[in-house]
Amino acid sequence: MPSAVGDRLARAGVLGLQGDFREHLDTFQRLGTEAIDVRRPEQLDDIDALVIPGGESTTIGKLAAHYGFIPKLKERVAQGMSIWGTCAGAIFIARDVPGHPHPLAELMDITVRRNAFGRQLDSFEADLDVPALGSDPFHAVFIRAPRVERVGASVDVMARIGDDPVLCRSGQVWVAAFHPELTDDLRIHQRFIEEL
Ligand code: GLN
Repeated sequence: MPSAVGDRLARAGVLGLQGDFREHLDTFQRLGTEAIDVRRPEQLDDIDALVIPGGESTTIGKLAAHYGFIPKLKERVAQGMSIWGTCAGAIFIARDVPGHPHPLAELMDITVRRNAFGRQLDSFEADLDVPALGSDPFHAVFIRAPRVERVGASVDVMARIGDDPVLCRSGQVWVAAFHPELTDDLRIHQRFIEEL
């Protein structure tokens, strides 16, 4: 069921500057949620929720800064727009990324280290226990994933691998260290949109 915001249907966006934004757009389409490919900051005025996809956080940060997205993202989140960063998108949303001298949106009080799961674990899959989604595990695909090293007091950890948070939210700001858009399980996208 598509979600409603007031008397109209919710509209999502996916930042289409770099990375696997098409897979997120497909996932929203499968959920019956209208989603637009966001290429200009003004488009943020037309959506209720934005996904920052996985890809290359250095490139996403540089392009987002170049096109003037960062102040507009802060403004729209302060106005209530939801935002969710997956993998590289989670890095872009973090407040602090040690050794990463590139633009960040700094929308969640977390410290994230890039590519920090170690060589053997460069890419891997894992069944996550996500209590907020019910008892069925969520099969998660990790690709050169960031490691969340610190979460601020405002952050709820929704899933972990060992001690490491891999799905977190702070109000309407979400991050996932993995790629929910690469599996057929639509539950996280659905929950993100349902709460608008
Ligand atoms: N390693 C990438 C980065 O640091 C993120 C990888 C991904 O998004 N799958 O930007």
